Amino acid sequence: MNDLLSEFLRRNALLKGHFKLASGLHSDTYFQCARLYEDPGFFKQICSELVRSLDSNFDKVIACAVGGIVPAYEIAFQMGKKMAYLERINGRLEIRRGFAISKDESFLVVEDVVTTGGTVEEIFDFIENSGGVVKGVASLILRAKASPFENLKYLLKISTVEVNPDDCQLCKTGVPVSIPGVKALQA
Ligand SMILES: [Zn+2]
Repeated sequence: MNDLLSEFLRRNALLKGHFKLASGLHSDTYFQCARLYEDPGFFKQICSELVRSLDSNFDKVIACAVGGIVPAYEIAFQMGKKMAYLERINGRLEIRRGFAISKDESFLVVEDVVTTGGTVEEIFDFIENSGGVVKGVASLILRAKASPFENLKYLLKISTVEVNPDDCQLCKTGVPVSIPGVKALQA
C-alpha cells in the first residue's frame, strides 16, 4: 500500500470533526474503522501487511467488542488461528458466548485503534487473571506519538490532538461533540 493515510481519508475511515474518544478526551479526529471493513478485499490486503510483521508464537487471537472483532477475525483467519472476543458489560470486560480462556493458553491481542492503551491493558489483565498468557499486541492504528506498548505492531501511526474537555477549543466555540464509537454489543 503506497499511501495508507490517503486511502483511509478517501474511504471516510478517518474523519474530521469534534469527537469524544473512549478515553474521555476530545479530539478533532476520529477513526471509523468500520469503513475499512466495508470493503473486505481491501481490508484483507491491509491486514496481510500487518500479519507479515507478526510472530505466530501464540494460540489464539483475542479482541474486545465491537471495534476489535473484524480485525481479530481477519488476522486469525490469515494466520490459521482461532479467535475470541471479550465484551464490555456495565463497564467491565466479560467473556461470553461460550468463548473461554484455558490455563496457559497464549494470545495475540488485536485492536482497531490504540490511543492510551487503556482497553489493551484491561484485556491483558483479563487474560492473565484467567490463567492465559499475552504473547503480543497488534492494532490497525496507533493514534499517539509513541506506542504505550513496547511490542505493539501497527499499520498506521497518526499523532492527533487530544485534549481534556475543559481545555477543548471546539467545546468553547459551541461545536456539538459526537460520540461515534460503539463500546458494547447488546446480548
Ligand atoms: Zn470538545
